[in-house]
Amino acid sequence: MGDGIYPEPLARIDLKPMYQTLKRIAQGLLPTPLLQRYEDQLRALAARPYRGDRYRCNLCGFRMARFVELDRGDRLCPRCGSLPRTRRLWRVLQTEVDLNGQSMLHFSPPRSLAKQLARSPLAHYHRSDYEGEFAADFQIDLTQMSLADRSYDLLLCYHVLEHIEADQAAMRELYRVLRPGGRCYIQTPFREGEIYEDPTIQTPSERLLHFGQEDHVRIYSVAGLSERLRRVGFRVERRDFGPGQETDLGLKERETLLIAHRPRG
Ligand SMILES: [Zn+2]
Repeated sequence: MGDGIYPEPLARIDLKPMYQTLKRIAQGLLPTPLLQRYEDQLRALAARPYRGDRYRCNLCGFRMARFVELDRGDRLCPRCGSLPRTRRLWRVLQTEVDLNGQSMLHFSPPRSLAKQLARSPLAHYHRSDYEGEFAADFQIDLTQMSLADRSYDLLLCYHVLEHIEADQAAMRELYRVLRPGGRCYIQTPFREGEIYEDPTIQTPSERLLHFGQEDHVRIYSVAGLSERLRRVGFRVERRDFGPGQETDLGLKERETLLIAHRPRG
């Protein structure tokens, strides 16, 4: 367009810097307790420029012209901060699982999903967070859970196992605390081929380089993780999602989750 200066169409203006600037200003101005107290109002303010009709968040109900685009291509809800994988998981739970009267334990629970589950017809909903990153009811070491055998019908273990060195111990524990017939919903970052791990890689910077995050200790493959789950007794169901589903939810075009079933009897 050499013949004039045209304003950018609204949808193409990158609003991410504005979102981040508002967040930074709030963090710089307010002490943490106040920040937590007014988090909802601050998020509402930061989300305002995103309002529109094209997309929606199934966790908080916000309708928007666009999501916040994160560096890895993940689309974050500006209102509640939900990630695509969390919106997908909620969609799966809503459409495929009868939550009525069930008991659930949720590891590292994102707030947006925890809020929905707390309102659901679950009989018991417990949240556990080991690192103190999320609001939780318990602080459970996954490799050594202080819970009775067969305590829960449903477990949510999303993006947790790739942080745990003794992952087979954690999987045995997941199996132990599940009731027969119960299910554990599992996801981690995945790669093609074999699991990539190396116990000599220990420093945060090396882990970032090799495993993609400073506190990850391996990268699973779908086949490799499934095999480890089977080794402790689970029957593993693989769910693959492709493009074209619920396009207004800002989901990933391709995504895999594993459902680990503890067989009955
Ligand atoms: Zn949302």
